[in-house]
Amino acid sequence: MNKINALPKTDIHCHLEACFRHQTLIEIGERVGLPVPEDVDTFKRDYLVAEPKENLEEMIAGFDRVRALWFDPEAITRLTKEAVEDAAAQNVRLVELRYSPDFIQNDRDISFEVIHGAILDGISSANADIAVGLIGIIRRTLPLPEAQKVADFITANADTFVGMDLADQELDYPGREFAQLFRKAKEQGLGITIHAGEISVEESRVNVRDAIEQMAADRIGHGLHIVNDPDLIQLVIDNNITLELCPTSNLLTGSIPVIEDHPIKRLIEAGVKTTINTDDPSLFAIDWNSEYALAETTLGLTSADIDQCIENAKTASFVNSESITKAWGA
Ligand SMILES: [Zn+2]
Repeated sequence: MNKINALPKTDIHCHLEACFRHQTLIEIGERVGLPVPEDVDTFKRDYLVAEPKENLEEMIAGFDRVRALWFDPEAITRLTKEAVEDAAAQNVRLVELRYSPDFIQNDRDISFEVIHGAILDGISSANADIAVGLIGIIRRTLPLPEAQKVADFITANADTFVGMDLADQELDYPGREFAQLFRKAKEQGLGITIHAGEISVEESRVNVRDAIEQMAADRIGHGLHIVNDPDLIQLVIDNNITLELCPTSNLLTGSIPVIEDHPIKRLIEAGVKTTINTDDPSLFAIDWNSEYALAETTLGLTSADIDQCIENAKTASFVNSESITKAWGA
């Protein structure tokens, strides 16, 4: 086993709905009448985002096909259990999985409670030595009253969620409109992470500032485009904000033109707390070992940088420190 594979790793930015095994989707599809192609190339083309897509619609179409297979409690429990076991099998010792209750629900007759219960069953039935935390997602494309319902569900279940996140299309959907929901979640003891600064436009940098100044963010999802803004870098450092960086994701969604342009090394050198994460591992046809290996081989991180990223994730995690220590076997 090479060094990266053997290293006890962390992932604090991983979307549960984007964790799945091809074979499992085939079997669920057969059971529920939503056939999934067995041919790997066809599956990759129609369901995954293994290379940058021509347009956003194409990307969403693939994810929608996957989403439909988060069909019922049986499917949700199995997919969750396997997500946890797959991470643990690659020596990930701390994983924070995030999901969007209304994204899985998708206007179907399945309640948030049933979805959440099935996910908790999946986590508790996983046979793995790993610390797991669940983050509830608010989608910024939701109208505020809908977002409020999701936020209410998450805060009412603050004993089984560790945090709350704001995700989805950053452009035209400023985070500050949801500020009050996040401040309330923070009061309930939930950790706050906000997807922001993912794209290279001023609006996305404003989202980072708002997340810190108005939304009580502890961490920023992505945030890579603060790299050319010294004031914003200083704000992140002064507020002890940790960035959840997901290099392959940034390439595949068009956030950076080529992978070598990923600024993780520059952010480390600027003194920003960074972490290495997968975002949507199965959807992007990557895994934990490949993403950490990429950080070392292509993005120029030293072993010490990688160790520091792992320490940063453990410190910034919303999972309680006892569970993390236990997972490290200390
Ligand atoms: Zn994300």
